[in-house]
Amino acid sequence: MLDYIGHESLSALADKAVPKAIRQEQPLALADPLTEAEVLAELRALAKKNTTAVQMIGQGYYDTITPPVLRRNILEDPAWYTAYTPYQPEISQGRLEALLNFQTMVQDLTGLPIANASLLDEASAVAEAALFMRRANKKVKEGAILVDEEILPQSLAVLEGRAEGLGFEVKTVNVAHGLSQFEGPVVGLVLQQPGVSGVVRDLSGVIKEAKDRGAMVTVAADLLSLTLIEAPGLQGADVAVGSAQRFGVPLFFGGPHAAYMAVGKGLERSLPGRLVGVSKDDAGQPAYRLALQTREQHIRREKATSNICTAQALLAIVASMYAVYHGPAGLKRIAQRVNGHARSLAASLDAAGLELVHDAPFDTVTVSVPRRAADVVAAAKERGINLRLAGTDAVGISCDETTTEAVLADVVAAFAETLGFEAQLVAADAAEGFELPEAVRRETDFMTHPVFHQHRSETQMLRYLRKLSDRDLALDRTMIPLGSCTMKLNATAEMEAISWPEFATIHPFAPDDQTVGWRELIAGLEEDLATITGYDRVSIQPNAGSQGELAGLLAIRSYHLANGDTERDVCLIPASAHGTNAASAVLAGMRVVVVATAQDGTIDADDLAAKIEANPGKIAAIMITYPSTHGVYDGDVRDVCDAVHETGGQVYIDGANLNALVGLAQPGRFGGDVSHLNLHKTFCIPHGGGGPGVGPVAVREHLAPYLPGDANTWRGGRDVPVAASRFGSAGVLPISWAYVKLMGGAGLTKATQSALLAANYVSRRLSEHYPTLYTGEGGLVAHECILDLRELTAKSGVTAEDVAKRLIDFGFHAPTLAFPVAGTLMVEPTESEDLGELERFVDAMIAIREEIDAVAHNEIALDASPLRLAPHTARSVVEGEWDRAYSREQAVFPGSTTRQDKYFPPVGRIDGANGDRNLVCSCPPIEDFEN
Ligand SMILES: *Cc1c(COP(=O)(O)O)cnc(C)c1O
Repeated sequence: MLDYIGHESLSALADKAVPKAIRQEQPLALADPLTEAEVLAELRALAKKNTTAVQMIGQGYYDTITPPVLRRNILEDPAWYTAYTPYQPEISQGRLEALLNFQTMVQDLTGLPIANASLLDEASAVAEAALFMRRANKKVKEGAILVDEEILPQSLAVLEGRAEGLGFEVKTVNVAHGLSQFEGPVVGLVLQQPGVSGVVRDLSGVIKEAKDRGAMVTVAADLLSLTLIEAPGLQGADVAVGSAQRFGVPLFFGGPHAAYMAVGKGLERSLPGRLVGVSKDDAGQPAYRLALQTREQHIRREKATSNICTAQALLAIVASMYAVYHGPAGLKRIAQRVNGHARSLAASLDAAGLELVHDAPFDTVTVSVPRRAADVVAAAKERGINLRLAGTDAVGISCDETTTEAVLADVVAAFAETLGFEAQLVAADAAEGFELPEAVRRETDFMTHPVFHQHRSETQMLRYLRKLSDRDLALDRTMIPLGSCTMKLNATAEMEAISWPEFATIHPFAPDDQTVGWRELIAGLEEDLATITGYDRVSIQPNAGSQGELAGLLAIRSYHLANGDTERDVCLIPASAHGTNAASAVLAGMRVVVVATAQDGTIDADDLAAKIEANPGKIAAIMITYPSTHGVYDGDVRDVCDAVHETGGQVYIDGANLNALVGLAQPGRFGGDVSHLNLHKTFCIPHGGGGPGVGPVAVREHLAPYLPGDANTWRGGRDVPVAASRFGSAGVLPISWAYVKLMGGAGLTKATQSALLAANYVSRRLSEHYPTLYTGEGGLVAHECILDLRELTAKSGVTAEDVAKRLIDFGFHAPTLAFPVAGTLMVEPTESEDLGELERFVDAMIAIREEIDAVAHNEIALDASPLRLAPHTARSVVEGEWDRAYSREQAVFPGSTTRQDKYFPPVGRIDGANGDRNLVCSCPPIEDFEN
């Protein structure tokens, strides 16, 4: 490969490709690489430093049993975890069906007609709901967001942090006293059901009162409780949000977990996150696709409804399959058992003369024990049980699917020995007076669709999972050469530790002495990432790149405010930026000013100067992606950074493309004040079909005080939290930790060099067929290349989309389509693909070029060509007479594809416009899929 592109060695290539001005001088000072066996041994040692316990802290996180059939065949199955976000729906029907099941489940349980799939965590979902009500409320356009005092504290903190940036009022109210305590205009009300104390209340009165005042209403609701409690939609709520964690997803020390959001009819166009819809393919068969929001990130930019891109697809899939496996009756049985345990506990403690904070628990009992709360919690801890310390005077106990009577007896004993009474457990069926209020008991059916009734044996479940994953193309079958998204190897050894109980069963609010190993691992990873990026401090809290952007911009905002710079609110963003950049800037309360891109793909220096001059004293920041989204290293990036610094602004470097920099250049040293990284790109966390993600934010020293704080204990201040738990998606951090340890500094550097080599090799191999749009010095690209199809399109009518769909017939996932430049394909092969796979891709692209030429030379009409009619299903080549202008052979075995290993897409090309016009966002009746 080096010979072909004319370079002597990997380092010679890197010296040519990467501008001198930004090269780092020292090799990365990381520990020497370890073998897989050594890394696993170190992880075992760290795991041992954590203490597992019976987790009854609750507060939004509950232990759960992940059915082994789901753990092994989703969470630990590369066919699911290595898949990409389903932007190419024809090769994503399996995961789209799983996500549609998630939506249907949420819609049924919440009684609201439209649900997304999915959001990042419950706290950020509450914040999204507040922003949603501010957008969607047509009656009251400006006013406060009122919040139930029973809200989870971490949700309130994240909401308040967001409100501060955007300048709206958040006020907590005791809803038992009605809303008259607040006189001003109210845009929205956020309720929590059950409340943080565990209380279940009839909320219909306060919902009506809010609506009479023109407010919209959100209920943050526990999904399991909704099997017993009437749906918020039927009680008048406009929005429901919450976490799907306890549907089979381990505690993971705080994440990753899928959050959900459901809304009323007519509100779908303002909904954040992804929405799976049903459309038709070119043969008229029903087919799933992402509806509406697919466009949000890339086109609507600062007008986007939110900045969410990567969400928690894999975890939403686990939760949906948990519901499919248990079915409605099974879920209800689990909920009844949990509720029975809570009532048994309430009756036992009540019988002992203790005062309960409420007498209507679903799963959580809160007991008033003036001044003795800490002692009770300590006594339970001695018995291996974690309870919730609710201030100095109360203790919360949350039951879950794993709770047993023996555990309950132990809890009662802990109270008894601390407070001095005779412990006695009252059985659930003898526990009177703690039933759910009549008015809220669920009367309505849910999950009536056949999918929730058909896969109830393990045999059927296993086959359903296999059937769906077989419909998809993931990294376990083909390279996914997605520019900007870096789909690289997720090594099995890196994945192994995540489901070990010492990592997976730890509650995010467990006492510090039980999480020593976790915190050592996290601190070590943050330190390694600081070393790699050249920054001083890193926080791994943000749950995705978009959240890292928000955290970074909030840090910049706080920094300016602390300096008395209250006027700085302009965020400069190049025209080529990823859509999340502009959306995040808006969420951080900034105004977006777009900077033009020059002919060569770099930032237009004249336009930058003009924009700076036009906004004296106002520039808060510039957000640049490096290398730029055009796939080239801009040699003048230091000048751009200097120009912004001189005017008093800060430099945000979007580090999603760090795969082109690790070991070669450090954004913290060549001008950045802050960056986010995408651990689900550069650092090997698998993409999960659209999440989990981790978007650490890295800063220089002066911004360190503004890194996100702990939402559970935050009481205002400049360290605005962006996620519900301190360490965000901690559960998947062992993956990146292991990657860095396996590679060492030299290995990471070689990986970057190899990624450069692969991109330049593909670019050069394809140059006479598809010109690369932008190149830097010496005609080289960075780690990706944009193939320009616009001239071919002009000549032949064949579009980049046609090429993307035709690649499916060759068994490939398409490169990034139409971003950052319309009419192009952006290819990022990464260091993980060997020469054989690169050649297979190059051959496919050359064969496609021949087909384009045939159209251009009028040998075949575009509409009759295999390009426009791609992808080809098995059905399309066997049904009826074959009367096409090309052979069946060419249709399904094009080029030199093998005959043995054929991927057939389950559906043909999907009609996107039809899907957006006729939104169907829940599982269609089964008959639609007959024949
Ligand atoms: C992927 C990406 C993002 C967004 O990251 P998410 O994790 O999807 O939120 C931002 N910027 C760039 C350049 C990216 O490639």
